[in-house]
Amino acid sequence: MSDLLIRGADLVSRGRSDLLIRNRHFAEPSEADGNADLLDADGLIALPGLVDLHTHLREPGREDAETVESGTLAAARGGFTAVLAMANTDPVTDTAEAAEHIAALGARDGRAQVVPVGAVSKGLNGVELAELGLMARSNAAVRMFSDDGHCVWDARLMRRALEYVRAFDGVIAQHAQDPQLAGTAACCHEGEISGKLGLTGWPAAAEAGIVARDVQIAELTRSRLHICHVSCAETVDVIRWAKQRGINVTAEVAPHHLALTTSEVLSYDPTYKVNPPLRPHEHVEVLREALADGTIDAVATDHAPHARHDKEHAFAEAAFGMLGLETALAVVIETMINSGLLSWPELVKRMSIMPAQIARLSDQGRPLTPGEPANVILIDPAARAVQNRDNSASLSRNNPWHGRELPDPVVATIWAGRVTYQKER
Ligand SMILES: [Zn+2]
Repeated sequence: MSDLLIRGADLVSRGRSDLLIRNRHFAEPSEADGNADLLDADGLIALPGLVDLHTHLREPGREDAETVESGTLAAARGGFTAVLAMANTDPVTDTAEAAEHIAALGARDGRAQVVPVGAVSKGLNGVELAELGLMARSNAAVRMFSDDGHCVWDARLMRRALEYVRAFDGVIAQHAQDPQLAGTAACCHEGEISGKLGLTGWPAAAEAGIVARDVQIAELTRSRLHICHVSCAETVDVIRWAKQRGINVTAEVAPHHLALTTSEVLSYDPTYKVNPPLRPHEHVEVLREALADGTIDAVATDHAPHARHDKEHAFAEAAFGMLGLETALAVVIETMINSGLLSWPELVKRMSIMPAQIARLSDQGRPLTPGEPANVILIDPAARAVQNRDNSASLSRNNPWHGRELPDPVVATIWAGRVTYQKER
């Protein structure tokens, strides 16, 4: 692979500089010779590649909705150089072999690093612990475990899982949803709009209650707990309390929960059916503040592709979930940078450094300095475009931003020294 010289990028806190990539790593720009490929970054900001803690790639099992190849191409277009692939595939990633299979698919087809998330329970059944130790010791070196899509509801199973992963510095990522307060029929925030539309409500207490319990168990076991897709103000209060107490808990928020509200559901458009559901404006405000002050550590997409025949139903029957990889950075720029709530270095922390640390990815979320792995994106912070779901790299079309104008920042994505996406300019 020949050298790549990125010319004149704005490195934010370090000013304008060239970046030289040699053998998949950054090298001193002064070492560049005349043979390097050139990439003009005049007017562009260079940031470390983004890391997504929460991606559904659907392979194996639902290759009609997404594959490792299409999902990671969407990731590259969105500025991601690594994605954590959730375990709720078919078969479930609940064994060492299954985890190694995902890692191998990533190595073969990936346009970004693909890191398998292991299931907490066998077949996501919520009853019997999966092979956590074998997955950790496998070639896939799994560190994050989640039954995402399902809540680990049995407190004793959660305790055992948290105890188990402590030995290898693993983390349990909880999809917090009390199944008795918010069962599978719950498809809309419980409140005025759910009542008006006759949809089954999903109260905030179903999320915050599980999180309150789990931070107590994490304190008991002195283990690492991560909370997936925080959607409610009440949950933010619990996490803030737990962090003040020194409990080892981290949390993520999805871009759609930073921008969209329950009122989208008034259209009955199943594109806006997501789990946990969109919440009223006051929750959105609290989530933005919590991401700004670090109570919520990371942005994670919960990219959830669905085939048309699973999504195009009456609201109550449609599948849960939205696409997110290609638009996450745009939504965070719009809601957090353009509103003055986050600075660029803080955005890098929330979308690259912290996710890499939570997942224990040593090659990601690193500074753009000589010797470090060359994972970098070039962005134009002023570019804007109207979103069109038909321009997606994803095989699915459940894009909640279709028809809306958003920032259109990503110009190039480079993963391990390789250009995985470059916009035509
Ligand atoms: Zn989930």
